[in-house]
Amino acid sequence: MLVVQKYGGSSLADSERMRHVAKVITDTYKRGADVVVVLSAQGDTTDELEAKALELNPKPSRREMDALLSCGESISIALMAMAIEAAGCPAISLTGRQAGISTDSSHTNARIKRIDTERMRRELEKRHIVLVAGFQGVNRFDDVTTLGRGGSNTSAVAVAAALGADLCQNFTDVDGVYTADPRIVPSARKLAEITYDEMLELASLGANVLQNRSVEMAKRFNVPLEVLSSFTPDVPGTLVKEMLTVENIQVSGVARDNNTARLSLVRLQDKPGVAAKVFSLLAREKINVDIILQSIGRDDTKDISFTVGAKCLDRAREVLTENREAIGFSELLIADNISKVSAVGAGMVNNPGVAARMFEALSAAGINIQMISTSEIKVSVLVDREDSDRAVRVIHEAFFG
Ligand code: ASP
Ligand code: MG
Repeated sequence: MLVVQKYGGSSLADSERMRHVAKVITDTYKRGADVVVVLSAQGDTTDELEAKALELNPKPSRREMDALLSCGESISIALMAMAIEAAGCPAISLTGRQAGISTDSSHTNARIKRIDTERMRRELEKRHIVLVAGFQGVNRFDDVTTLGRGGSNTSAVAVAAALGADLCQNFTDVDGVYTADPRIVPSARKLAEITYDEMLELASLGANVLQNRSVEMAKRFNVPLEVLSSFTPDVPGTLVKEMLTVENIQVSGVARDNNTARLSLVRLQDKPGVAAKVFSLLAREKINVDIILQSIGRDDTKDISFTVGAKCLDRAREVLTENREAIGFSELLIADNISKVSAVGAGMVNNPGVAARMFEALSAAGINIQMISTSEIKVSVLVDREDSDRAVRVIHEAFFG
């Protein structure tokens, strides 16, 4: 059995936490598994390094930023190797480069291109616990790169895929994926299993447990991924995998996303090419559009409403206003006090009626739905932000109550 474990910064914050994690690692090792561990930087180290850089240079080169930020992870692996040796087990630390992780050259946001597993395998054969610095790689010029914030998750999945690991365990400070944010719904339950696609939806909808890129990669290489807490390592977490053993769960979770804004173009001409013009203008600015709603034409005019991520709102407003003549609309309305609330579930495909049940729950609570969008595995509605907590609760109650 080969296990890849990943520990995030909060699990490594100080020597006491490090010692605790060393114990979790050596326990796994003593049970006979081959263990590769991918570590983040301790606590807020990465933020602190970034702040130091900006004190000296408000626009540091990205190459030097990588040279600096990657140090946090290098510290973690060396210290952890020492903690494990102190606990009586053999360990070796490897930087991203030593672990054979090659990336492209987009500094501070590099992509892994390949992993040469030879060194890691050699160390595993010697029954060493292999500690790999997360977040780091090396480009073809032999310069250190980093994978973007939260990138250790991606390192871990990539290493697990390259080694053909049986399991990738992602230790964080939450003990799994829940049916809703427990801060909004205290009765939310931990899921034993969830599919990659559901996890991707829940992550992009604001249930921030795993970096999307890491889940996409786990799906592509079919790496079973477990989310669990380093504070309670013996409590089973949530397993993310391709197919669920428990079939027929209609809805796995309810997510809320506050990071959204709605724009409405009022009284556009009702003729071919208008939508194309609007959305190609936005696409050219790399503005991602989410839900789109077009009214039916009346008196030769129609309205189009759509949502964008909150941080794209200003740019979207500018582009549309600049092109008002060319597009031909009479008014641009904006709402940024809205939220997207979604029910996600791989079982929806085979279970008609999920949307109806969700809308009934909202209607009974007197919550107005502004827009709706659906996919094979989710139903999303746009509601006033002040209604969004309640929306999550009543939808959760309808499916899990
Ligand atoms: N240390 C980096 C960060 O804080 C990478 C990681 O933790 O995954 O973003
Ligand atoms: Mg961190």
